[in-house]
Amino acid sequence: MSPFPYTGYAGKYLRVNLTTKDISIYDLPEEWAELYLGGNGIGTKILWDEVPPEVDPLSPENKLILATGPLCGGPMPNSSRVEFIAKSPLTGIYGDSNAGGCLGPELKFAGYDLVIFEGHSSSPVYLLIKDDLVELRDASHLWGLGGYETETWLQQELHDPQVKTVVIGPAGENLVRYAAIMVSFSRHAARSGMGAVMGSKNLKAIAVRGTRGIHLHDPIGLRDYSYKLHQILRKNEFFTGVKSFGTPGLVSLMNPMGRFPTKNFQYGSFEGFKEISGETLKQEHFVRDIACFDCPIGCDKTYSYVGEDNQEVKTFSVEYETLNSLGAGVLNRDLSTVLKGNVICDDLGMDTMSAGRAISFAMELAEKGILSTAEWDGLDLSWGNAHTILELLRRIAFKEGFLGNLLAEGAARAAKILGRNADRYAMHVKGQDISAQDGRAQQSMGLAHVTSSRGADHLKAFPVIDETGYPSEGVRRYGEKYMPELIDPLATRYKAFIVKDGEDFGAIVDSSGNCKSGGTFVMSEIYWKEQAKAIHLMTGMEIDEEKLKIIGERIYNLQRSYNAIHGISKSDDVLPWRMTQVPSPSGNAKGSICHLEIMLPQYYTLRGWDSDTGTPTTETLKRLGLEAIVDKLNESFRSGSGAQVRAALGWAEPYTGPVEDEL
Ligand code: SF4
Repeated sequence: MSPFPYTGYAGKYLRVNLTTKDISIYDLPEEWAELYLGGNGIGTKILWDEVPPEVDPLSPENKLILATGPLCGGPMPNSSRVEFIAKSPLTGIYGDSNAGGCLGPELKFAGYDLVIFEGHSSSPVYLLIKDDLVELRDASHLWGLGGYETETWLQQELHDPQVKTVVIGPAGENLVRYAAIMVSFSRHAARSGMGAVMGSKNLKAIAVRGTRGIHLHDPIGLRDYSYKLHQILRKNEFFTGVKSFGTPGLVSLMNPMGRFPTKNFQYGSFEGFKEISGETLKQEHFVRDIACFDCPIGCDKTYSYVGEDNQEVKTFSVEYETLNSLGAGVLNRDLSTVLKGNVICDDLGMDTMSAGRAISFAMELAEKGILSTAEWDGLDLSWGNAHTILELLRRIAFKEGFLGNLLAEGAARAAKILGRNADRYAMHVKGQDISAQDGRAQQSMGLAHVTSSRGADHLKAFPVIDETGYPSEGVRRYGEKYMPELIDPLATRYKAFIVKDGEDFGAIVDSSGNCKSGGTFVMSEIYWKEQAKAIHLMTGMEIDEEKLKIIGERIYNLQRSYNAIHGISKSDDVLPWRMTQVPSPSGNAKGSICHLEIMLPQYYTLRGWDSDTGTPTTETLKRLGLEAIVDKLNESFRSGSGAQVRAALGWAEPYTGPVEDEL
């Protein structure tokens, strides 16, 4: 094979078979880069090729792909992100999760664009990557340890405080379906249960150290262009706010909109929001800013609180989502309980969003009398009970007792296990819990949750453009012609368009190694044109805005097709009844429901998906160069194999029955 033709890539990837302990180094096929770019795109391609529908996500046949993109490790602002891709144990369909920090650049500096893990080790191991040295090592002594202790131990064992770590905690070992991966102490790949995939393989950790550089196509041009974008970002009107407060700053913005889910989505505003706001968090607990590799923003923070025995406890990445899921979602206005819960989730290794939603689900079942007091395992399941919140998080991670075992499955599966009308109170789409965005208060976000390829999710389309109604970002991206409806959160017009555009662009950002919270989505300064130029300067690839749009569309259609061979169809593109049948009681959204019936058909038309099935048509797949997958997709429909897989996915069907008694 000829040398890899593009700079910016390492040009090599690793395949690690945990069953046989074989480790192989391969040349990165150039068509992977040309057709799928990197990270999320290449990971999707591998999942399609190597993990068929019949594979159980927690079996050795599932694969975990750790992947970087071409911008990762270069001088472009916010170019640090890595992707973890696998079939999700939570949803049973396509899954991925993304993390920042310095891991991605380090892997590239070690000489690898991606690592594919397959099989299952008979005993706990970790993978050490140190440039040419790549080996599996015994991790029996690490099994059972929390994330912080494991990372500290690895740095000490390897005598290297600079080593970048990827670890799971007990939740991943115990196969909690929303177990997270912890990346170098402060960052997390938390969604879709990627930590449980590591646990199922007996892979406790990955330690990476790289000392090589990356070749650049046009170093001077890239330096000048990156400098220019750094300067532009610093002048953006949102820069100071994002830098000062990070995502917690959103609490005070979202609450008056009625977009801040409260009491398991019964309300969209929380009376106690000030007590858990970004302003209060900063004033009372801020220690210092943290930034990922090459990021001028530094949206992440270290916070501290006084723990047991008057000891100072530090915690990181306290995000808007966590302030909601462990705050308003469970009707808790005590900020220190949120911080303590954040530490438990990080150390034991769980997604704070799904963990919090599982607890609010249980609290509502208790309120409605669906869970009898005998099933409360000695806890008080009253809303906002701090002891219960923290103790349940621990019991879930260790799968202790009836509730710990039940809630470790996630709300949607727990609802199916329980029966008893519990499905009414599981706030999910395709098995994944809905994050802190109420589609009644932001129509585009409601649509984004149902069209996301990994189940309910705000980050696939990330339609921040109409969140607050600020016109500047909308005009910067799309010009004046869609105003004012495009930026009106309650209007449905143009929302199918911005969701599709966001999903395609998001696929590119997640494949290039850039960050969605930085200049791409939140500030819209590094959009299609700028991404294309940066990728060209970095790699030498002849790429422009139009070619990049096709790649983004290709990736998203492949993810949808992957879900389609698992039997996912239009009938799964639904929100919980609370968002489509019950008018919002809160804030600016008062009286509003989410109008999927208007937006979804428009979205299918824009996508070129069949309006009856919600599946990419043969014509669309051929236009995107995906003709090779058409037969497999059609065969899945013809044989009914997809429908069989769908029937066994294990989460409760979305509740669509009468709701009068709930109004
Ligand atoms: S904006 Fe925040 S999450 Fe994104 S790269 Fe910068 S510090 Fe990391």
